[in-house]
Amino acid sequence: MSLLVEIEKLLEEGKGAIKNAASAETLENVRVAYLGRSGKIKEMMGRIREVANEEKKAFGQGMNDLKKSLEKLFDEQKNILGSSKAKSGPQPDPTLPGQSQPRGSRHPLTQVTEHVVKVFERLGFTIADGPEMEDEFHNFVALNIPDEHPAREDQDTFGLDNGTILRSQTSTVQIRTMEKIQPPVRVIAPGRVYRPDAVDATHFYSFGQIEGLAVDTDITFADLKSVLGMFAREMFGSDTKTRFRPSFFPFTEPSAEVDVTCIFCHGKGCRVCKQQGWIEILGCGMVDPNVFKSVGYDPEAWTGFAFGMGVERVAMLTLGVDDIRRFTENDLRFLRQF
Ligand SMILES: [Zn+2]
Repeated sequence: MSLLVEIEKLLEEGKGAIKNAASAETLENVRVAYLGRSGKIKEMMGRIREVANEEKKAFGQGMNDLKKSLEKLFDEQKNILGSSKAKSGPQPDPTLPGQSQPRGSRHPLTQVTEHVVKVFERLGFTIADGPEMEDEFHNFVALNIPDEHPAREDQDTFGLDNGTILRSQTSTVQIRTMEKIQPPVRVIAPGRVYRPDAVDATHFYSFGQIEGLAVDTDITFADLKSVLGMFAREMFGSDTKTRFRPSFFPFTEPSAEVDVTCIFCHGKGCRVCKQQGWIEILGCGMVDPNVFKSVGYDPEAWTGFAFGMGVERVAMLTLGVDDIRRFTENDLRFLRQF
């Protein structure tokens, strides 16, 4: 019986050794010492010769149980050490804020341009495009601004080395469109234009313009007024009123500046509208017959209207921006507000 007690003792001893093994290396040493080829279990097995025949079966059974128990404990301890080893490295902290993917947005000038264009698309206009590098004919002559015309001074622009100029207005697209297609014409032309203006809070050497042109039989000033009235209400709010003031542009006759009721004070008068209640928003007029002649349209057969507005100006008004230079500084603190 004493050997069975020794088996029990060996089991307790082995259990303790396995439990106390704090590293994989120590555990492996324990395994070799107990379960190895010349380990304690093997050694104990060798003592079966000392066991009386009638007790050999109980001894064998005991040794078998011992071996299985220690093997099981060994596997368990190995798992514990394995997982705690993983835990000892840097662990993910689920309470930390995640790494968010920064989401961009379209530039405020792009948003305003798209808004304006969308309104006119609903009114039956389609987008027209043209080059920013232009010739004198499309930028001036065809628009009824001959060489000696004083309006050239206002629209002085940048000359390029190859003899061309940077367009000073998107009206060039009107000319190029009419050269290509016969009436009826209904186009809206957003684009960048250039003027050597001294840069200040409201002037920049490059800015966005959106021009519209409609040519058909019997187009009158009433059509122009109703189209721009609809635009103003869509763009600035349904209670927006428009006011047409006589003006001059070389390429339209008659010409008008269009004011809308101040979107900040609704006509009552405030700092933005300089207590006037009105804000100038665009220029327009009926297409001058000379412009039709320069593109080969018969001025007796066709009439039309044209209008143009500055994108920055509309954006500054609708977004409440006080300095035109903010749009081009790429300051994310500014851009993220839109
Ligand atoms: Zn106002």
